[in-house]
Amino acid sequence: MRVRVGARTDIGRSRDHNEDGYLVREPLFAVADGMGGHRGGEVASSVALESLEQLPKDSDGLLRALVDRIREANRMVLERGESDPELRGMGTTLTALVTQEQKAHVAHVGDSRAYLLRDGSLQQLTEDHSLVQRMVREGRLTPEQAGRHPQRSILTRALGVDAEVAVDELTLPLLAGDRLLLCTDGLTGMIDPDRIHEILESERDPQAASDLLVEEANGAGGDDNITVVVVDFEDAPSGVAGDGAVAAGTQRQAIAAGDPVGAKGAGAPSAEVTGVISAASTEEETEPEPAPRRRRWWRLVLWAVVVVVLVSGGLFAGRLYVRSQWYVGVAEGRVAIYRGIPTDVFGYELSGVEESTDLPAAEVLRLQPWQGLEDGITANGLEDARQVVEQIRRDLEEPA
Ligand code: MG
Repeated sequence: MRVRVGARTDIGRSRDHNEDGYLVREPLFAVADGMGGHRGGEVASSVALESLEQLPKDSDGLLRALVDRIREANRMVLERGESDPELRGMGTTLTALVTQEQKAHVAHVGDSRAYLLRDGSLQQLTEDHSLVQRMVREGRLTPEQAGRHPQRSILTRALGVDAEVAVDELTLPLLAGDRLLLCTDGLTGMIDPDRIHEILESERDPQAASDLLVEEANGAGGDDNITVVVVDFEDAPSGVAGDGAVAAGTQRQAIAAGDPVGAKGAGAPSAEVTGVISAASTEEETEPEPAPRRRRWWRLVLWAVVVVVLVSGGLFAGRLYVRSQWYVGVAEGRVAIYRGIPTDVFGYELSGVEESTDLPAAEVLRLQPWQGLEDGITANGLEDARQVVEQIRRDLEEPA
């Protein structure tokens, strides 16, 4: 099959830099949507795509290799974030496609998406790793409500947050005429799937289709960075190389070189179709330096602001990594270390106990410095939280 590619990334209408990126290096294609303070977002998406690029293309178990590569990308983003205070807390989504003979392997983390256009119908191949998607799955929101939900940018999974990451994977047989779309939420948050479908259906040239998708997302407001990669699989005399075309991008770009991609496949994709929801946004609150106890109060205030904005809905433009936040609080009357943030969104707790202790909360709350315990005392990671616990223990043993 012959492969034709179009791709484009765009800053959108309201961001001051582009934290999205894409990779077109046939037979490997990907989009990434980075986030984090300062330059964190763009670094995270670039690091992930550069790591992905090292995928060994001649591997037999290509899906396995792709997933391993994404896990490695996760470690690289995490390490880079931990080694540079300015990049601390950064992360990225990653949705990747690699073709092998007449198959397409898709691997995915976050809320970027892959779609398949086949025989006139558009099918979403990936499921968003977001809080609102979880609520849709549990029947608590309709896909339409989720698409407009003020908390739609809260991710439940991203690269660069944890040492381990679960990667969704999918393999589908390719048919001549198939068109695959990879995109970030700057597209799906701005135009609905019916319109995406119409554009993919009506604009046969993959580059023109990519351009039009970006234009429409900008026309609808362009609230976020927008990135699309359109890959067409066409019948062609064997041995004829596909032509590649790639538009200007801010970070990752590569020209798709042609490569004969085997014979015609058969069968239907097994992916489930999910409703379309999504997010807009990238900025994240900047993570302060490790701080003496006094400065924790500042962080608490910062948190309070974030939470108030979050819960009151509306204009929350930050993406919140629930799993990258830590605090010390109270569980069952004892001091405990929590992961997440001390709030809930429509009944969903955004935190859970990670470690419990034997320290009685009632006694600790009598100590002046620890009266914020019930609201949660923020920490820069698990180690920092353990240090807070140790300090509490010392203060309990020897009240000042
Ligand atoms: Mg985005």
